[in-house]
Amino acid sequence: MNEVIAGACRFCGQANINGLFDKNISLEDAEEQATLKCNCCEAEIYQKITSAKNNINILFGKGSEEYGMKPTESEKVIEHMNQVVELIADETILNATIQITARTKAKFSLTAKGAIKIERSETKKYQLEK
Ligand SMILES: [Zn+2]
Repeated sequence: MNEVIAGACRFCGQANINGLFDKNISLEDAEEQATLKCNCCEAEIYQKITSAKNNINILFGKGSEEYGMKPTESEKVIEHMNQVVELIADETILNATIQITARTKAKFSLTAKGAIKIERSETKKYQLEK
């Protein structure tokens, strides 16, 4: 049998059976994996934030190119969005809207199930005169 190390949740310290790994994973990674699988309250908030940040990358970061969208140029905007989802995850704020450019808007809110919903909208107008 391979030697394993048990990852423990960063918040409650509980070792999780899902956090058992081969010895070649770093302790830090084992802890991260255990935290991502723990169901204590703090870990659930952390999981929400982690998945929301991943979605920010898909919708506005480098990941958006893959979906035919233009990535947001400013790294500061992405940082700000990451802070917004942290505030929503612990329910400090309920929702937020960020107008990034004249056409691109980001909306952040909490669904009834408690997940963080992120929406990117692009306004396009076509107008002809005369
Ligand atoms: Zn935990």
